[in-house]
Amino acid sequence: MPATTMIAGLIGDPVAHSLSPHMHNAAFQSIGLDAQYELWPTAHDGLAPRVTSLRRENIIGANITVPHKQAVMPLLDGLSDKARRIGAVNTIIARDGQLHGDNTDAYGFNRSMAEATGHLVPASALVVGAGGAARAVLVSLQDAGVAVIILVNRSQITADALAGSLNAPGRPVVQVRPWNSMPRLVASAAMLVNATSVGWHGEELPFGMDVIAALPDDAVAMDLTYRSTAMVRAALARGLRGVDGLSMLIYQGARAFELWTGQPAPVDVMRRAVLAEQARRS
Ligand code: NDP
Repeated sequence: MPATTMIAGLIGDPVAHSLSPHMHNAAFQSIGLDAQYELWPTAHDGLAPRVTSLRRENIIGANITVPHKQAVMPLLDGLSDKARRIGAVNTIIARDGQLHGDNTDAYGFNRSMAEATGHLVPASALVVGAGGAARAVLVSLQDAGVAVIILVNRSQITADALAGSLNAPGRPVVQVRPWNSMPRLVASAAMLVNATSVGWHGEELPFGMDVIAALPDDAVAMDLTYRSTAMVRAALARGLRGVDGLSMLIYQGARAFELWTGQPAPVDVMRRAVLAEQARRS
């Protein structure tokens, strides 16, 4: 690799499964940029030296994934407002030896939601899950002006803490409701979002089929899991609009690409690369 090749990469543990190298390397190639995206598996005690290594001249930035999205924050020179509000960094931009933390997950969710709804802002949304991804989803829903935002999580205490940190004057309120009220609550929800980590394996669902059955006929069901999940299949079988997390993944990557390169992301190229890699693996 020539010494002038620009480099970005993914910091996390594990990272081997990631689709990001396929998406970003295809994008770099398509716009003729001499750049390469690498995988940087990093255990907890290797995080600080890894971040220091990003200050090298030819590094343009990095993505951060589980389990370092929060831990990386104090190691950076600056943070975007979005990263501060979400409380997590998924993208680092390296410029002149300075490292700036941002979060593109909320943008990714917003673009994916717009695709799913035909750019209409849903009147209400019920979000299931209260981890890092849910935080980005909730910020995105607040910023989109969704009037009724309901949060349900298996551990309600975690949901209460999350809502408390996001609720502020001038923003739509995130209302926490008990887990077992889900079937009743979804009956008036324009959108259901699965932001739990359940959905990666076989037919698993984070909630009962009664939740999907209770959705209104014009509801949108979004799953952050980027595979064809049981939840999305059940929604589609009912004739609802159902989307998995692939578009969110692509758009968060597209935004990171733009922050690193200053150039418009070739979203179609990135989507094709991700779909091709998924097909190769299945
Ligand atoms: P976290 O580990 O931070 O949060 C996991 C959440 O899932 C918690 O709310 C947890 O509830 C809940 N949960 C776990 N097991 C169960 C269960 N058996 N039943 C009900 N709820 C459960 O994960 P993240 O927020 O980082 O990620 C969530 C998902 O989003 C993952 O699948 C991830 O791959 C995906 N994701 C997709 C992105 C995309 O671009 N499409 C971007 C980022 C994430 P509790 O608090 O009770 O433990």
